[in-house]
Amino acid sequence: MALIEIKDLSLTYQSDKSSFDALNDINLQIEKGEFVCLIGPSGCGKSTLLGVLEGLLEPTRGQVFINDKEIHGPGSDRAVVFQNYSLFPWMTARKNVAFAIIESKRGTEKIKKADAYKIADEYLERVGLSEYKNKLPGELSGGMQQRVAIARALACNPEILLMDEPFGAIDAKTRDVLQQLLLRLWAEDKEKKTIVFVTHDLEEAIFLADKIVFMEPKGIKNIIDVRIERPRLKEKMLSNDRYRSLRSRLVKMFSNEDEEVVLTGGAGI
Ligand code: ADP
Ligand code: MG
Repeated sequence: MALIEIKDLSLTYQSDKSSFDALNDINLQIEKGEFVCLIGPSGCGKSTLLGVLEGLLEPTRGQVFINDKEIHGPGSDRAVVFQNYSLFPWMTARKNVAFAIIESKRGTEKIKKADAYKIADEYLERVGLSEYKNKLPGELSGGMQQRVAIARALACNPEILLMDEPFGAIDAKTRDVLQQLLLRLWAEDKEKKTIVFVTHDLEEAIFLADKIVFMEPKGIKNIIDVRIERPRLKEKMLSNDRYRSLRSRLVKMFSNEDEEVVLTGGAGI
């Protein structure tokens, strides 16, 4: 069984006056250690699907299983990184990370404050921020704040990392650096984390993912196996034939020119 199993999932947003079907009958499996990118036009339901995986949104129909257990809320097996960093502005980088570690252990094992700070320091070093660990978020650039957010998520040692356009607000050059950093952190772990990464940037998706889930409004249009060898280097991508052919296929899909659609779970393109 896959690590994440999404079965016949539908979600309708309900308010007093109206209802809106955001996801309709989605089926998807994500394997342990897989890096999956969700792409698709704005409003097609990417963040909604991530919210369901996070456990903040309850499906209207269908189920999500993680490790064979149906989820009914957030859990310490999952951590989230959003576009807007969401760090506490009054806490230093170090304290933001340590605080998250302590919170993630709440209700399970207790962790000593000093140990949480030690882990925080390790992870801030892994993202290259040792020198900045005592700075407040407002004293850091956007790229640095996102490094802190990544360190914070990883330091809680979740099995699954959910990322919603984490580099969407970051300039192109810094984004390249952060993509490489994320791939390096992911590859460094003996037991790789499972990552579900939302983006609307096709090149980012091809560069990062094992598998691209191309969404259309309310559902999945196509699943693509990337099959580009790792480690991947940004500067080598443009001369990679597979990268170039995937890129042009995806550009066509985005502009709705494709006729040939491979069904969910199929061999991919
Ligand atoms: P994406 O992340 O792909 O841009 P979303 O998952 O945020 O898309 O939204 C999917 C659709 O659901 C959109 O049409 C959006 O307007 C709608 N939607 C999102 N949140 C709500 C909400 N709380 N109430 C009603 N409709 C919503
Ligand atoms: Mg979104």
